[in-house]
Amino acid sequence: MKCEDCNTKLNYFALLESFWFGFKQVKCLRCDSIFEHTSFNRILGGIIVFISTLVSNMTYIGEKALLQTFFVMLLSMFISSLITPLIMKFKKIKTKIHEK
Ligand SMILES: [Zn+2]
Repeated sequence: MKCEDCNTKLNYFALLESFWFGFKQVKCLRCDSIFEHTSFNRILGGIIVFISTLVSNMTYIGEKALLQTFFVMLLSMFISSLITPLIMKFKKIKTKIHEK
């Protein structure tokens, strides 16, 4: 994901962090343009939760291991979210590069 204005690559971890913390807006570090998550990213988030639920269901081995199942779910959510910065889509809502 690149900034449309200055062509700077947006930071992978900044995107990941913004995904995890309720789809926060992302700011380009170079030109201060602000990007907003599109609904595509929210759907992506839903898919990740869905897949993680499936995975934890498959590995469910009984009530005694509930904590383990919960851990598997968190882990698979975390792992699948690692690819989200690569495919997330953003909408630019503010440009600062042209203001002088
Ligand atoms: Zn920029």
